[in-house]
Amino acid sequence: MKRLRILVLLPALLFATGCGDDVGGTGGNGGTGGTGGTGGTGGTGGTGGTGGTGGTGGTGGSLASEVNPNCVDGQYTETLPDYSVSIESEISSFSEANYVQFVRAVLAKRYPAGDWFVDEGLKINQSGSCIELYVDPDQRKSAAGVLASLTTVVHECGHFIDSVDYNISASLKFSCKNGDTVDRGGKTFANDLLTKDAYAAKYPKCDEAAGEYSNCDAYWTTYLVDDIGKQGIDTLLDETLQYGTSLAVGYAFNDHYQTGGTGMDTRVGAATFLLYIQRYLRLARTEHPGAYDLLSKDECWRRAILTIWGRSWLYLKATENMSHLDSEAAAALALVRDPDLLNEIELLRKAEGC
Ligand SMILES: [Zn+2]
Repeated sequence: MKRLRILVLLPALLFATGCGDDVGGTGGNGGTGGTGGTGGTGGTGGTGGTGGTGGTGGTGGSLASEVNPNCVDGQYTETLPDYSVSIESEISSFSEANYVQFVRAVLAKRYPAGDWFVDEGLKINQSGSCIELYVDPDQRKSAAGVLASLTTVVHECGHFIDSVDYNISASLKFSCKNGDTVDRGGKTFANDLLTKDAYAAKYPKCDEAAGEYSNCDAYWTTYLVDDIGKQGIDTLLDETLQYGTSLAVGYAFNDHYQTGGTGMDTRVGAATFLLYIQRYLRLARTEHPGAYDLLSKDECWRRAILTIWGRSWLYLKATENMSHLDSEAAAALALVRDPDLLNEIELLRKAEGC
C-alpha cells in the first residue's frame, strides 16, 4: 500500500467578524441536468436533476448526484481549470531561480482562480511567503518538483487568507461568527469528538507505523487529535475548503501527476473532510444542540457549509475517472454516501428552505 502524502497544515485561527457576503446568486451555468431538469443560474433548474453532462465553455461542470441543483450546494459553480492549456513553454524555460514566477505562470494559465488564492496569500506574511514555505528546496530544483508542490501551495495560500473569512473565490466569501469551541469562546465542540462518534469504528485511523492506508482514515492523526483536535468547526470547515482546492489543483495539473505519486491524495483528502463535516453535523444535531443551532439556523454557517460541500463535489465529479488522483478514496466516499450522513446535508438544505 502506497503511503499517502498528507498536506502540511497551518492551524488557522479563525476570528468571528460577522456574517458577510451572501451566496450571491452569481453561480453561472451549472451544466445540463442529466435526468429530470436543467441546473442553472438562480435555482431555475428542474427538480431531481442528477448527473448531467458538463457545462460549456469551461464553466461549472456536471452535477454530482450528491448535490441538489435547486439548493445552494448544487447551484454553486466556478470555472473549472483548463488542463488542455499547454504549459510546455514554462516547463522548458524553467529555472530554479525563477520557481516562484513559474508557480504564478502555470496557475495563471490553467487555474486562474487558484492563482488568486496565491496572489492574496502572498500579501500576508506568516513567517514567510506561502510559496516559499511550501515548495521545499529539493522541489525547487525542477519543474516537476514545483508542479508536485502546487496542491500544497495553493491550499496553504488559501489558509493564509482565511484567518478571518472563508474565501471561496475573489467574489464570494463567508465570515461566520462563533465557530470555535465553547471552551475557546465560541459555540461549537472540539473536532476530536469525531474520534469517538458512531462512524469512527467504520473509518478508523490508519496504522501509519505498519504502513497501512487501506480502508482507513489517513488524516485522523493530523487533524483530530492533540491541539488541533481541540479546535472547532471553524478550522474543520476551512480544511474542507482547502482540501477542495487541493483537488482542484490536482484536476488542473492531472496530466503531470501520476499514479503512486503527486496528487494521488487529492480525492481522498477532499472526501475525508466532507465526511468529517457530515459527522460533525450529526454529532451536533444529536448531542450538542447549541452547536447545531449555530450551524443550521445561522445563514452564514449553513450557506458556507452547503457551498463548500457543493464546491468539493464539483471537483469530485470532474475527477471521478482520474484514478491517478485517487488513492483509497472509495472507502471515504462510501461513507459520505451513507444515507444517514447524506441526510445531514439534506437537513441543512431544508433549513435553507430548499
Ligand atoms: Zn490545511
